[in-house]
Amino acid sequence: MNGPVILVTNDDGVRAAGIAALHQALGPLGRVTVVAPDRERSASSHSLTLDVPLRANRISDDVISVEGTPTDCVLLAIKDLLPEKPALVVSGINRGPNMGHDVTYSGTVAAAMEATIVGIPAIAVSLDRSPDGRFEYTQAAGVAREMAALVLARGLPDGTLLNVNVPNVHAGGIGGVAVTRLGKQIYEDSVVRKTDPRGREYFWIAGQSSTWAVEPDTDFAAVKRGLVSVTPIHLDLTDYRTLEALRGWPLDGLATQRGGADSGAGGGEA
Ligand SMILES: [Mg+2]
Repeated sequence: MNGPVILVTNDDGVRAAGIAALHQALGPLGRVTVVAPDRERSASSHSLTLDVPLRANRISDDVISVEGTPTDCVLLAIKDLLPEKPALVVSGINRGPNMGHDVTYSGTVAAAMEATIVGIPAIAVSLDRSPDGRFEYTQAAGVAREMAALVLARGLPDGTLLNVNVPNVHAGGIGGVAVTRLGKQIYEDSVVRKTDPRGREYFWIAGQSSTWAVEPDTDFAAVKRGLVSVTPIHLDLTDYRTLEALRGWPLDGLATQRGGADSGAGGGEA
C-alpha cells in the first residue's frame, strides 16, 4: 500500500475493539501503523512518562504496543518508530464520548494534542455510550475514514485538532453532522467516600456521574440529537477575553516580592 503514513493510537489500549476498527477503516487511505498503549490508559490526559524506561513491543508488521501513555506513544512513533513523519494522526475510537470538559482528562484527545504540538494534523474520534451499554464501532470507523480523508486533503490550521464524537448505533445511530463548540458538564456526586474492611477510609472517583448543561451548538447537544459532532480545538489556551482585563489588575506587587528563606512558604519547583 502506498499513500501517506498515518499513525493510529488510542487510550483504551492496543487490544481495544475501537482501535482495531479504526485501523481497518483507514487502510484504504495510506500506510497505517498502530502505536498504542499496552493497556488501558483512559483519563491519563496529556501525561508523559519521564521516570521509567519505555519499552515498545512489535505485535505485528503494523501494530506496536508501548508500555506508556497515549502521549508517549505519539512521541515515540513520530520521533523513532515510524519510518517517516506521519501525514496524519488519528486517535480512537474511544469507548465512550469525549465532550466538553472531558477533553481535558482524555488520553484520546491528548494523543491528538501531542501530534498537533509537533505540527501534524490530528483527529480524536470517540463513540458515545448506548442505553444497553453496547459499542458497535463499524459506523464510527466509517465516520473516522471520511474525516481523515478530508483532513489529508485540506489540512488543518496550525495548532488545531478536530474532536469527533459519534452517536452510538444502539441509541439510534447517525442522523447527520454538526460543527460544534465544547459543552459543559455538571459534575454531581463525583467523589464517593467509603470505608474499607479494615476500617480505613478510601475515596472513589465516579467518572460517569456527570450530566450536561443544555446549551445550543455544543458537542453534547449534537450527539444527543443523533448527530456526529465535529469540534475544532485549539491548543492556545490563552483566555483572550480576560487578557485585557487582567492587564488592568494592580499586579505590580508580584514583582516586589523578596526571594530567599525569609519569603515564607511557597517556594519550590512547579
Ligand atoms: Mg478511553
